[in-house]
Amino acid sequence: MLEDQLSGARAIYAIEAHASQQRKQLDEFFAEIGSVAQTYKLSTGRLVSYAVQVNSAWTEILDEIAAAIRSHYDSTFYLNPADEVALEVISDLCRVTGSKMMPLPCCGICGKKELFPAATIVISGKGPHSIVRRYCSSCAADKCKQKTRDFVRALLDADRRNLKCLLEARLVRRKSRRDMAFTIAC
Ligand SMILES: [Zn+2]
Repeated sequence: MLEDQLSGARAIYAIEAHASQQRKQLDEFFAEIGSVAQTYKLSTGRLVSYAVQVNSAWTEILDEIAAAIRSHYDSTFYLNPADEVALEVISDLCRVTGSKMMPLPCCGICGKKELFPAATIVISGKGPHSIVRRYCSSCAADKCKQKTRDFVRALLDADRRNLKCLLEARLVRRKSRRDMAFTIAC
């Protein structure tokens, strides 16, 4: 089951948007995509770029999104797959166009940059701020356990930030069965 959730097809879309109105339209467009796929905003400014991840059975959606964008904008880039090379291209384009690249989430165990973390743990304490820890697909697969509680524990135990004190924390919420997002209280 976890393996199903860990495999996905990813692409990056970058669009040159000169007017703030265009940027707003692009944000709205990707917000709509967000209802059927996972999206991550990669850059803002003259170059608006987003990474999109879909279930590997629906890869044609990625091409359809590219076609929809091309029909509205003159200068677009479609990078499929969204691998490290694609991220370097975006980083270069951002530099050339003076756009701002967003920080990428890092895995809490191996430190690898991960666009779409396979698992997320939100640790909410008594204060107003919660800690969010994210984990890449290989680390999540490596720590995979039958029971959710054991899985969350294994991730926290291996986390590079010393979170062992939280091992007894209470699992309060799992967003949904599909999402590997857990909230624990301490
Ligand atoms: Zn990792």
